[in-house]
Amino acid sequence: MTEEILRVENLRTTFTTSAGEVKAVEGVSFTVNRGEVLGIAGESGSGKSATMLSIMGLLGDAGRISYDSLSFMGENLTPESVKTLRGDKIAMIFQDPMTSLNPVLSVGWQLEEALRRHKWQGNIHERVAEMMTKVGIVPADERMRQYPHEFSGGQRQRLMIAMSILCSPELLIADEPTTALDVTVQAQILGLLREIRNDTGMSMILITHDLGVIAGESDRVIVMYGGRIMEEGTSREIFGSPSHPYTRGLLHSLPKADGKRERLIPIEGQPPDLLNPPEGCPFVKRCSEAMRICLHRKPEALTLSETHKYSCWLGEKC
Ligand code: SF4
Repeated sequence: MTEEILRVENLRTTFTTSAGEVKAVEGVSFTVNRGEVLGIAGESGSGKSATMLSIMGLLGDAGRISYDSLSFMGENLTPESVKTLRGDKIAMIFQDPMTSLNPVLSVGWQLEEALRRHKWQGNIHERVAEMMTKVGIVPADERMRQYPHEFSGGQRQRLMIAMSILCSPELLIADEPTTALDVTVQAQILGLLREIRNDTGMSMILITHDLGVIAGESDRVIVMYGGRIMEEGTSREIFGSPSHPYTRGLLHSLPKADGKRERLIPIEGQPPDLLNPPEGCPFVKRCSEAMRICLHRKPEALTLSETHKYSCWLGEKC
């Protein structure tokens, strides 16, 4: 039986800027089940990172957040409870391992500090050495005394993964974890995350603009655009029968792995200006199938199967 560990309903995040209000996240709802990988795809500015930072309470005073429901393992999340869970039951790794560690402190001290903050009951030094060994940074005792500049980009991301799993989280949020790394290191890091998931059974939210990474790693996928969910489904549904014109456009712009040489078709145009979002469908200015109604009314989510939904007026015509 699937056990839901995270539920987000109707999340909205707005940033107040000198130019006006930016609606970065508009009515986003989803769940994450125990042990599954939920991939969140979309281009820059689609709202995927803002969604996660809102849930983790990491926007500070910068963003105004509202939601109908936000719960983790059956408990409602409050700003106070999120602080306690962060780094403990919910961990996060970020895009840039080069700037995630403090350059003037040894890596061992930084990893131990994460455990001290969460009042770890066991031997802190041993736990750090165990996790560093798990992610392949060896000999751990020696390397704990070194500073971030003595590690390569891939090794620093391994250290960030070690830090994130120190407290055995139930949910790991990985925000573009391989974007700053070259392709071979990217494959190693994804393999390491897969191995840890298989060992621990933790759930993961994988945020990336790279659909190839999403296809290889995710059980379910959400495609975001203009702060909204355009389509969601299992990986098989999204990659096998994409229904939203934006999802289809993203897939057409990717090279195929079957070796056939086909012309890639880019999605022309720019993402919407979220200071002045379109009145109707956020994708309307770039959609080759747009109709008059798309200009003025936002489409509701249409259900194709128990797991597959998309928001587009084309479905209403069928
Ligand atoms: Fe295109 Fe209209 Fe569907 Fe939006 S609602 S994706 S503009 S057809």
